[in-house]
Amino acid sequence: MIPPRERRRGAVEQVRDRIPVARNKLAHDPLRLVADVLLTPPGTMATHITDACINCGACEPECPNEAISQGDDTYVIDAERCTECVGFHEKEACQAVCPVECCVPDPGHEETEAALIARAIALHPDDAELKEKAGSGSFPSRFRA
Ligand code: SF4
Ligand code: SF4
Repeated sequence: MIPPRERRRGAVEQVRDRIPVARNKLAHDPLRLVADVLLTPPGTMATHITDACINCGACEPECPNEAISQGDDTYVIDAERCTECVGFHEKEACQAVCPVECCVPDPGHEETEAALIARAIALHPDDAELKEKAGSGSFPSRFRA
């Protein structure tokens, strides 16, 4: 049986190995990268909201992807719509307005910049400006701030 710490380390290494591949795909074949992301099983998570949320609602209208909604106890982020604001802002918009700073990346579910910009394109198929920026590799991203 592999100890949990070793399993986590293995998963992080797998993600690191995939970064150059994803960058290459984004540069040369963005549609293929979008298809890869769409075929990735759900369950991955970018930014998430912790139990410290005070339900003020300030974050919801700031999300460019309509990923935030009121949950049972706190506001929640739909992981399949969150791009960590990649493609739209240099920092996470929800975290920027949150008075208790509880919109944070989930360290157990890291995602690459390439996967996040591909998700942004998939969520906004009619956004020609976003596509152009993604194609040129020049788009707002917390990875570059
Ligand atoms: S990080 Fe950006 S995309 Fe993700 S939930 Fe917050 S505002 Fe929305
Ligand atoms: S801004 Fe922060 S405290 Fe307010 S609803 Fe969103 S996550 Fe909760």
